[in-house]
Amino acid sequence: MATSAFRSTSKLGLSSLKWSNTLFPQSRTFSVQLTETQYAVKDMVQRFNEEHLKQKAGKLDLAGRFPFEQIKKLTNLGLMGATPSEEYGGMNLDYLSLTVAIEELSRGCASTGMILSIHNFLYVNLVNELGTPEQKEQFLRCYTTGGKIGCFALSEPDAGSDVANIKTTAIRDGNHWILNGKKSWVSSGIEGSATVVFATCDSSLRHKGIACFLVPLDAEGVFRGKKEPLMGVRAATACDLTLEEVRIPNSYLVGEVGEGFRIAMSQLDQGRIGIAAHAVGIAQAALDTAMDYAKERVAFGKCLTRLPSVKDRLTEMCIMVETARLLTYRAATQVCTKNSAMAKYVAGRNATAVADHCVQILGGRGLSTDYPAERHYRDARGTQIYGGVTDIQKRLVGHYLLKENNAL
Ligand SMILES: Cc1cc2nc3c(=O)[nH]c(=O)nc-3n(C[C@H](O)[C@H](O)[C@H](O)COP(=O)(O)OP(=O)(O)OC[C@H]3O[C@@H](n4cnc5c(N)ncnc54)[C@H](O)[C@@H]3O)c2cc1C
Repeated sequence: MATSAFRSTSKLGLSSLKWSNTLFPQSRTFSVQLTETQYAVKDMVQRFNEEHLKQKAGKLDLAGRFPFEQIKKLTNLGLMGATPSEEYGGMNLDYLSLTVAIEELSRGCASTGMILSIHNFLYVNLVNELGTPEQKEQFLRCYTTGGKIGCFALSEPDAGSDVANIKTTAIRDGNHWILNGKKSWVSSGIEGSATVVFATCDSSLRHKGIACFLVPLDAEGVFRGKKEPLMGVRAATACDLTLEEVRIPNSYLVGEVGEGFRIAMSQLDQGRIGIAAHAVGIAQAALDTAMDYAKERVAFGKCLTRLPSVKDRLTEMCIMVETARLLTYRAATQVCTKNSAMAKYVAGRNATAVADHCVQILGGRGLSTDYPAERHYRDARGTQIYGGVTDIQKRLVGHYLLKENNAL
């Protein structure tokens, strides 16, 4: 622990910092005060934004160009392996540090923040927390330090919210499994090197028949579809994956047959913290854009900030950003379905509303691609959909609320 802590702090420029054993494990208490490590991560990403991201985000979005150069730099900073231990090339950070990193990155470029979020929360953390030593050797190390990107393939053409309805099959053949089916919306599926795949071993068992596998994307029988044309996060990618007689060894099975649904759901509890952080970052960027503009723009003889309706909008934006941030940080320190769902629900809705105010404050320029407001607006909307739609998040919160009150 001491060695890895030292390495991580060196990267963050805090080699003289004193460490306590309580810094890294997931905390059970929630404090609004970030630790020095978490502040250091925030500071590091803010500097990265200024130097490598903020000025390029608009161009990457307009061109729909994947941010390869930025991902390479983030790998060098250690952020493509935020939580694993040093043994597997990771930074040994806690979930809140990763959350803060995603928030700040999304503030600079929503697409880059989303790529980092899915890679870490839905792929790296799953392999790190559930993988065997052999799986970690093959499917983790190159993904934390080697520049490879990992994906999470759960959704299918006929199974998005209704996960138990997946049709991709896994059939045992001696020491191997044969996978067949079609996955949709696989983020970074075009650039990725491996993916987690959920498949049913017995569809009559519905969710109890699902298993989780690790699949190299260059395996024979894996076909990547075209890049989906997206409204927002346009520098990120999502595509279909077709699996035709894909033969993988039994050692690529994660956990036991029948545990796949539970694995997917608990990983989504983490993934939703990542998407909530991504939404908070987009919302903060929209507030930054609106504030900068309102301070400069003069109408009716005074700057916009002095017009009551604009001040009112800015105030509402601030409240929405702060409430979403608090819920997101709380979810990152007390990980459970209800907290993650509540954070994602509020952060997604608030980001959409904040970005809408931003467009309004910029007036006609809010609609121009020469200004970032319209990009924030497009980027914000998806946070209510990927990682689980808002409607489902509300249902989850309601379910756990009644359960806690013995009212189910
Ligand atoms: C850019 C992007 C990236 C993505 N990345 C990934 C990825 O990396 N991996 C992956 O596996 N998936 C990914 N997805 C898929 C995403 O998680 C799904 O799109 C999402 O879960 C919704 O599923 P659906 O699109 O099938 O919508 P549906 O499930 O068809 O839902 C459509 C609408 O119906 C309503 N609805 C459906 N069910 C209910 C219900 N039970 N209660 C109330 N209302 C309901 C809601 O209004 C919902 O918005 C991505 C999607 C996008 C757009």
